[in-house]
Amino acid sequence: MKKRTDSRNRPSYLRWCYECNVPLLRKKCDLCGGKGIAVAISSPGDARPALEEDRLLTVRTISEEYGPQIKRAIKGKTIILNKAPGIDRTDEVIIDGIKIGILEFDIFEKKFRFIPSIEGCAAFDRFTKRKIMVKGGLKGHLKGKHLSYDDIIIPKGQVFEAGDYAILLFPDGNIGKGILKDGFQHSEKAVKILDMTKEDVCFSKITNPMEKIIKANRGHLNIIEKEASDFIKETIEAAGKPVNVAFSGGKDSLVILELVKGVTPRSETIFIDTGLEFPETVAYVGMMQKKTKKKIRCVRSTKDLLTEAEVFGPPAKDYRWCCKTHKLAPVAEYIGLNYPDGCLTFEGKRRYESFSRALSRRVDNNPFVPGQTSAYPILEWRSLEVWLFIFSKGLRYNSLYDKGFERIGCWMCPAGLDSEFEKAKELHPEKHRKFYKFLLGWADSRDLGKKYVRLGFWRWKSYPKKMLEIARDKEINLVPHVKGSEYSVSSVSGVVPCHDRKFSIEAVLNGIKDFERLGNVLNVLGSVSYSKDMGALRFKSSGCDVSVFASGHIMIKSDSKADAKRALIETVRTIIRFETCNMCGICARKCERKAISVVDEKIHIGASCTHCGKCNRSCQTYTYSEKVVDMSRVKKV
Ligand code: SF4
Ligand code: SF4
Ligand SMILES: [Zn+2]
Repeated sequence: MKKRTDSRNRPSYLRWCYECNVPLLRKKCDLCGGKGIAVAISSPGDARPALEEDRLLTVRTISEEYGPQIKRAIKGKTIILNKAPGIDRTDEVIIDGIKIGILEFDIFEKKFRFIPSIEGCAAFDRFTKRKIMVKGGLKGHLKGKHLSYDDIIIPKGQVFEAGDYAILLFPDGNIGKGILKDGFQHSEKAVKILDMTKEDVCFSKITNPMEKIIKANRGHLNIIEKEASDFIKETIEAAGKPVNVAFSGGKDSLVILELVKGVTPRSETIFIDTGLEFPETVAYVGMMQKKTKKKIRCVRSTKDLLTEAEVFGPPAKDYRWCCKTHKLAPVAEYIGLNYPDGCLTFEGKRRYESFSRALSRRVDNNPFVPGQTSAYPILEWRSLEVWLFIFSKGLRYNSLYDKGFERIGCWMCPAGLDSEFEKAKELHPEKHRKFYKFLLGWADSRDLGKKYVRLGFWRWKSYPKKMLEIARDKEINLVPHVKGSEYSVSSVSGVVPCHDRKFSIEAVLNGIKDFERLGNVLNVLGSVSYSKDMGALRFKSSGCDVSVFASGHIMIKSDSKADAKRALIETVRTIIRFETCNMCGICARKCERKAISVVDEKIHIGASCTHCGKCNRSCQTYTYSEKVVDMSRVKKV
């Protein structure tokens, strides 16, 4: 099997044949036989074609800024978008192999704006009246310098505001890109020159339909299809397990469905309806079932997001408990019941999608779904490869892509963008209203305020630098003041020498609701005994003596400082696991000793438990326990 280079080691560029005016997936253009030129794009370089709504949005946003003539110049052209770093949706826009600028969503104004690149400024120059003339007499290296208001002429009828990006036209014909500064009408520093070029940049006279672009990339498409099909064939043979396809209703899993269909007729297609799917996605899956005349097994989650969110708080990018409760739990149940000897699942995961996915292996065992081996045939594919494959096969894709969504997930997915959340509001106002009301109530009960919700801070537990800067600028409180009975570690006394063991560490965990139950469930850490006179549970875990008191007081004694600290953290996290358990049932399937069962609608640890603690690792409430209770004080001791 031919190995492809790991995407993490590949430079980020898109190739372009300027002769034929087509984007290329490899060096060679299959139309003219010539070589494409590399256009540098932002990492990871997952460029995609702009579909219906995105095309309209790009053309509209540019022409609103630079006039109707630009619209005529770029109308009908293939537009390529590529994700770039930014606060929310930020896309580099490439037309005719020219990176003309950036389309970005403004989370304050809730609308898109276009920022031209220097190449964009040069390409737009002949089509737009919206530019600033620079008077003569300026000398030296100008990039990075300021122009005074007396140095510039703003054409009649053109209105500029501070913060606007402007095309600058110099007397020697050079083009510049500048930004207007506050109070520019009276300033010595009216416009900052951000960049300059002497180059004459022109849009191409050739406009190609999609069929031509596919033809130009035919050779590469054939190679990647063959490689992925060979991988599927070999993986099926090696696994020797029944095969299924995880179909999400998104473009990547659509490719997988098509590829697997070409290799084996014997595979089941499974669609997980999280209950949070866009109605368009559910309808699309129904349509696909009819079209392909193949049953698509719909596995539904029975959980209600808002009920769960009352306990966990809203899900966040770094706190996606919803994936476990609404997706993994029903999958684990379905696979457990229907594939008792395990299965091989083909999924559409791609490295370019996110940094966490960049580290994935092509074949892996799902740690949350016992018995399931997952395989990712298009792990190395880029978005443009996926789309050209879909177009070349004439596959029907989810209509949401034509409505401006770049990825398809749950409609309120915290990993999505604020721009997509706004789009979801437009499409499904009632769903949005209910969830937004919950967010406002949740934020209000923690003194987090409306701006916290409006600007999308609820999407994070740990905020990125840019969001922290916004919070500082806009004076948004990010520290929740909890009024209810949530969990907290209120006092920790450091590791100190003690008489019977070498060291002891103590802490108080507030908010424990069901102390009695801990007597059973803490068995996952060690064999628990109950001391009635002291009102304490005791067990030995990793060589430490652990006592948990009904007051929430936890005491660890150990021969080593590090072990004492580790045992305290493990005990707190395990308590949180069971206190916030949502009965997803994954741990029961994970336990090799079959020691976990459900008694009185609660998880019960049976006598066969060997206290190995492995079930902790499969549980999402354990995984996210440090998001529920701040453990930094424990870690600091
Ligand atoms: S995985 Fe099973 S045996 Fe191990 S701690 Fe959990 S319940 Fe006990
Ligand atoms: S303890 Fe078990 S049932 Fe409860 S949330 Fe964790 S994995 Fe699911
Ligand atoms: Zn060519």
